[in-house]
Amino acid sequence: MNSDLKSHNTFGVSAQARAIHSIRTESELIAFLAADTSNTDLILGQGSNVLFTGDLPYRVGLLKLKGRRFKAFSEEEVLVTAAAGESWHDFVLWTLEEGFGGLENLALIPGSVGAAPIQNIGAYGVELKDHFYSCRAIDRSTQEEKVFNAEDCAFGYRNSIFKNECKNQFVIVEVTFKLSQRNHTLNLNYAPLKNWFSGKNIEKLRPADVAEAVCSIRRSKLPDPSILGNAGSFFKNPIITAEFTQSLLKKFPEAPLYPQANGTFKVAAGWLIDQLGLKGYRQGDAAVHDKQALVLVNLGSASGNDLKNLAQHIKKSVNETFGITLEEEVTFYP
Ligand code: NAP
Repeated sequence: MNSDLKSHNTFGVSAQARAIHSIRTESELIAFLAADTSNTDLILGQGSNVLFTGDLPYRVGLLKLKGRRFKAFSEEEVLVTAAAGESWHDFVLWTLEEGFGGLENLALIPGSVGAAPIQNIGAYGVELKDHFYSCRAIDRSTQEEKVFNAEDCAFGYRNSIFKNECKNQFVIVEVTFKLSQRNHTLNLNYAPLKNWFSGKNIEKLRPADVAEAVCSIRRSKLPDPSILGNAGSFFKNPIITAEFTQSLLKKFPEAPLYPQANGTFKVAAGWLIDQLGLKGYRQGDAAVHDKQALVLVNLGSASGNDLKNLAQHIKKSVNETFGITLEEEVTFYP
């Protein structure tokens, strides 16, 4: 394959890989990993959470494993499995068409099924971990199979074992979710969803109706990567101590803060960036999205380094004003 990664990352930035391989079966994956003796090659899903800041002196394997199935778990619940290379959003729509509930708030998140557990994707008050049952992965060094249950994955806020102790050690090939087949529990707690349904009769609301609302809300403020290069939220929402929260509130009483179970607080990173007047700010073709400050966009010909420099400028400005260090959600390569 041509070794330009431009069409394999949602930022649409150019970078050369040593080679690009398409991996369509688990045997192809095992052969690919066995040839990677230095364990440096990159396995990529849809490239929706990466930033290439230069050429990659190693191979890239595009994981294209396909397939989905379900089986009953109980009268109320069902186990639904999808291969890693399935598109996340198409998978969510399929579960809803089958009448299963649970993933509706996670509709329209770009990326593949296999990448979803790695950062425990989340949106509108639901995280992947809330419905995760298990995943099957291949050990990169031994090519042996291992099954992880939810506890093994040590899920946290946009975090999991696959970003920590097991970083680069496994390739997830299949993910299983436990979803409801009746008596669905809908989560409409987040303000945008609450507002969407306010004044409407929600008694007969189906999970698919919630997904439709989520898609409309997302489309109204988030850029479509097929039109404007981006990788969704560029930074994580920082978690700060209760003590720091008090000092922040003294200076910024209107700061949007969300209490966490362990006594810490989550601050909306987009709000911090917006306060600095950076919404719509651009450095060449690297820009802060004009409707959502947490999203960085490629207006046309930005390079990975242009976007990295813009991110550094934002981090520095946020730190100077608020004393908070933003952490990237996007992973940089090489
Ligand atoms: P928003 O409504 O402008 O809110 C800003 C931030 O405040 C969100 O990121 C959210 O944190 C937090 N928040 C809002 N209401 C909350 C509540 N009731 N309880 C706890 N935290 C609350 O957010 P937005 O940018 O439009 O995004 C809406 C949802 O889609 C969010 O959940 C966001 O994470 C998700 N999203 C994710 C990505 C991605 O690339 N990862 C991209 C776009 C949107 P949380 O992020 O912790 O939910």
